[in-house]
Amino acid sequence: MSTLPDAAASPFREAVVDLDAVRDNIRTLAATVAPARTMAVVKANAYGHGAVPVARAALAGGADWLGVADIFEALEVRGAGIDAPLLAWLHDPGADFAPAIDRDIDLGVSSFDQLEVIAAAAASVDRVAAVHLKLDTGLSRSGVAPEAWGRAVARAVELERDGRIRVRGVFSHLANTSSDEDARQLEAFERGLEQVASAGLDPEVRHLASTAGALRVPAARFDLVRIGIGAYGIPPFGDGTTAADLGLRPAMTLRGRVAATRRIEAGTGVSYGHTWRAERPTTLALVPLGYADGIPRQASGRAEVWIAGARRPVVGRIAMDQFVVDVGDARVETGDEVVLFGDPETGAPSADDWGDAAGTIGYEIVTRIGARVPRRYVGGE
Ligand SMILES: *Cc1c(COP(=O)(O)O)cnc(C)c1O
Repeated sequence: MSTLPDAAASPFREAVVDLDAVRDNIRTLAATVAPARTMAVVKANAYGHGAVPVARAALAGGADWLGVADIFEALEVRGAGIDAPLLAWLHDPGADFAPAIDRDIDLGVSSFDQLEVIAAAAASVDRVAAVHLKLDTGLSRSGVAPEAWGRAVARAVELERDGRIRVRGVFSHLANTSSDEDARQLEAFERGLEQVASAGLDPEVRHLASTAGALRVPAARFDLVRIGIGAYGIPPFGDGTTAADLGLRPAMTLRGRVAATRRIEAGTGVSYGHTWRAERPTTLALVPLGYADGIPRQASGRAEVWIAGARRPVVGRIAMDQFVVDVGDARVETGDEVVLFGDPETGAPSADDWGDAAGTIGYEIVTRIGARVPRRYVGGE
């Protein structure tokens, strides 16, 4: 028998992922966008939450599709025995598409060349590749440029006729810049769809919106919306809208335990560089999470955490493995719970609060939580 302690049994630090929150968030968003269908985006290990458990919870909440960035992520989902429709849209230049085609993974196509490579890969495994043609409507990242769209669509028609591909979808992605820009992109998408239709293609799903567009631009819902951040209960807007305002619940709670406390005198400097000094006698609590765990160093001296019933300030520099909190005269002991972020309705900071403190967004806060932090799943039975 192993004598090693079980890290999960002693949550020195852990990310608790509430799979019922994922399920309920998807259910809420799917009801909002109906009759459009919902794709749950589980790329980047489900934004740090765990791709396979989140995919299952999202399907339980009524997601019809799953989406990931690359085919490795898609193969992980398929490898877990999940057979829902699944799209991967961002490909390595040398990607081997054959295993993905063989496992019924739909492929986003962002260039004429990709179309050829995918068709050849389909031939090599004697399958028909299901593809979603991507038009760049103004984000200027991936997608076929509008001036090349006609040629790509014409080639797709030929390859579909030859039985190499099936154009199952047409899609694009919004820049979420302004309602004017959204409207311009929507028009560009409509024009692209007209070219697809007049070429004789009849895709099953047309999709443009991610969480922000799905909620605020109803005309962008088309047949399917791609929901990432909303599934995790984090608002996409960055304008102070809370999860509760949207009927959503944050799925991840990042927590740990106070590793030590120390009473200090006025004038005592704290952590590297003494960027903070106590103005009065106070108590410090040491939290055993640092930038190696994804806690942004930029949030040094700006973020807050929940300890002993209140939000309290992080003081001094966040280090690789630890940071310090000023708890004043509160009774705080070694082993007390610390919540870095979770559901703000409980009084804890949100992932967005940490994003504000670090000059970034809630998306990055949850996605960057490191491998040293065990994920513990609740719900989802
Ligand atoms: C990541 C991503 C999404 C999900 O976006 P959210 O803002 O998290 O909802 C949707 N579509 C594409 C193409 C993406 O890359």
